[in-house]
Amino acid sequence: MCPICGAVGHLNVGGDIAGWFAERYPGLDLGALVPEPCPYCFGELAIGDRVVTRRLSNDTLTIEPGQRGAVEAIRANADSGKLYVVVLESGKTLTSPRGAIRKRRESEG
Ligand SMILES: [Zn+2]
Repeated sequence: MCPICGAVGHLNVGGDIAGWFAERYPGLDLGALVPEPCPYCFGELAIGDRVVTRRLSNDTLTIEPGQRGAVEAIRANADSGKLYVVVLESGKTLTSPRGAIRKRRESEG
């Protein structure tokens, strides 16, 4: 499970999954959910990166997916993590956690 957005995916660790699991998570059953960033959350975002929103919904906030924009600023704190200020193509500004945005692929323009 991605520790940032909660997406669940399959581990891609090559042949010896049992060995990989036993080494990194001794005491956990093979197949238990473990933290591995999903492809959308993998890697850092920088100012100027072109991004698109992903769906986020929690008790206080809903972000609809598919909104395009660019990272204008990053608010960072060594203890608390980062928030990303994104200027959307609609002209609105969105302050977003990492899990609600992803980098746009080249093919997405
Ligand atoms: Zn993720």
